[in-house]
Amino acid sequence: MPAIIDANIFIHASSRALPFETMMTVPAVTGELESFEAQQRFESHDITVREPEEATIEEIASTADTHNLSVSRADIALVALASETDGRLITDDYQLQNLAKQCDIDVEGFVRDEIEDAGSWTRQCPNCGQKRDAETCPVCNVETTRVSD
Ligand SMILES: [Zn+2]
Repeated sequence: MPAIIDANIFIHASSRALPFETMMTVPAVTGELESFEAQQRFESHDITVREPEEATIEEIASTADTHNLSVSRADIALVALASETDGRLITDDYQLQNLAKQCDIDVEGFVRDEIEDAGSWTRQCPNCGQKRDAETCPVCNVETTRVSD
């Protein structure tokens, strides 16, 4: 099972070596590695870069839409590649971890711990700050916003 590596692993990780035998990523991720350190870190590992099939990308994108997850094109491609290779996604991005879980993809954090539950959301009143399970705060009568639980 290959490890599918997100850009944040190269960008934020320290000098800790990546402890994965087979590593893959998507072309969009290599484009996100702007700093010299991140590029060096990427190049010092043997990582296969592969673009997933368009059909898989569309399938993952529609799952992201269904669950209202704000993820990038690179995020969708990473989950698509994990799906095609039966791989495990390595990322510290919560939205991306959520998307992977919704798509039944194994996901693992690297620096941060992986999130407990997929799609755990609640609503909060922007006025009084209370967590509300309604679209409108019953006290302030203003529209609540969605926040992660
Ligand atoms: Zn309120």
